[in-house]
Amino acid sequence: MLELHEEAWREILAHARRTAPEEACGILVGLRTETGFAALRAEPCRNIHPGDRTRRFLIDPGRQLAVQREARQQGLAIVGFYHSHPGGRAEPSAEDRAQAHPWTPMLIVALRGECAEARAWRCNPGGGCEETPVRIGPVTGSGPGASSLADGG
Ligand SMILES: [Zn+2]
Repeated sequence: MLELHEEAWREILAHARRTAPEEACGILVGLRTETGFAALRAEPCRNIHPGDRTRRFLIDPGRQLAVQREARQQGLAIVGFYHSHPGGRAEPSAEDRAQAHPWTPMLIVALRGECAEARAWRCNPGGGCEETPVRIGPVTGSGPGASSLADGG
C-alpha cells in the first residue's frame, strides 16, 4: 500500500500536466508504515533523459542525492519515485521495469485529457512488477522513521 498525501498528489498531477507531452518525474518523500509506505510530499525533478523525453525519463542523480540528504535530516526517507505517461497507460514499460529501484514503489500517472489515473508498482530485480494499492488522502501512517529502500536498506 502506498499512501499519498493529497497535497503531494495535487503537486504530482500539476507537474505531470505542465510537463506534457514530455514525461514528468520526481521523488516521493515520507515514511515506512506497517502496511507499506506513506508519501508525505513530492519532490518534482527535471527529466534529464538525453533521448525522447515523451517516452522516457531520467532523474538527475545529484538532485536525488540532495533530496535524500534533506529527507534524512527531517527523519524521513525516499519512499518511492513517480513519473508520468502523458499519452499512455499507468503501467510500467519495459524500460521502467529495467530501471526500477527494486521493491521501491514506482507511481505512474497516466494522463488522458482531463482524466488522470495513478497506479503504483513494486518491481523485483528481475524486472517483474506487482501492483500495490494507492490511497490518496490525509496520510495517517506512522512508521519507524528513515529507512530508505532506495539505499537497499
Ligand atoms: Zn514509464
